[in-house]
Amino acid sequence: MKWRGRERSSNIEDRRGTTGGTGGGGGLGYNPFGRGGGLRIPMGGRSGGLGGIGVVIVIGIILFAMGINPLDMLAGNTSSVSPSQTSSSMPSTSAGEDELAQFVGVVVKETENLWGEVFQQTNSRYAPPKVVLFTSQVDSGCGVADASSGPFYCPNDRKVYIDLSFYDQLRRQFGAPGDFAQAYVIAHEIGHHVQNLTGVLPEFNAQRARMSQEEQNAYSVKVELQADCYAGIWANYANRENLLEQGDVEEAINAANQIGDDTLTRGTVQPRNFTHGTSVQRMEWLQRGMQSGDAGQCDTFGSGVI
Ligand SMILES: [Zn+2]
Repeated sequence: MKWRGRERSSNIEDRRGTTGGTGGGGGLGYNPFGRGGGLRIPMGGRSGGLGGIGVVIVIGIILFAMGINPLDMLAGNTSSVSPSQTSSSMPSTSAGEDELAQFVGVVVKETENLWGEVFQQTNSRYAPPKVVLFTSQVDSGCGVADASSGPFYCPNDRKVYIDLSFYDQLRRQFGAPGDFAQAYVIAHEIGHHVQNLTGVLPEFNAQRARMSQEEQNAYSVKVELQADCYAGIWANYANRENLLEQGDVEEAINAANQIGDDTLTRGTVQPRNFTHGTSVQRMEWLQRGMQSGDAGQCDTFGSGVI
């Protein structure tokens, strides 16, 4: 991706080098998610009856594989990670991470440009999220999170959280190298913020309480695939902005493939327990967004779509 020298977002909160945990454990109080403000833009959510998730994690299945149900975390009722240390300073960050932080800043800025345009087309204003970079662990509006959480979006405080070490994991453990794979992850999380603004996340949160676990999972898959489609919308925009290099599209599609629920769990988890969608589904929705550049094509909630 041709990102060097481009403007960076002013909405990055760099909390690297500090530990976020309060040391208290016990999780955080659950704040009912605020309503999405009633914004309705024609971008797929058909916001009619679908809803959202609390903390939505791009690879929530990792938690899942560890025996923690990501939906529990969404509701803010995880027991927090027990902090193994309470010191407030961490080793200084490496030059490589600083470059990665700059990269994130550029990608976030480009998402702001894109979604600003899209919202403006319907005479609404895009309020961008803050993006928090952290190491080790962090206090979020949805609980204490650590690097094992993977990048996530917290609708309570409207912030995206990214531990930069995740990108190492993406490359090595998940076999998804490349800067555009990293950009895809950011664009997916920003997609959840868009869902929060359009009402998709608040609606899901309102409805999930009366759903069975399997219904919640199926709903979660639709929410996640829409975020993948929105990441594709961003990739389409990046192409129009002439930011793409040879192989970038393939990097993103490969990442979507590698983090599909079936691939990630190597067939050890029943499809009814999937929360993010299969590899095929994730690639399909990402590509649908990429090819169309039209958020209206991202209606994963339409009947018979998935
Ligand atoms: Zn997600």
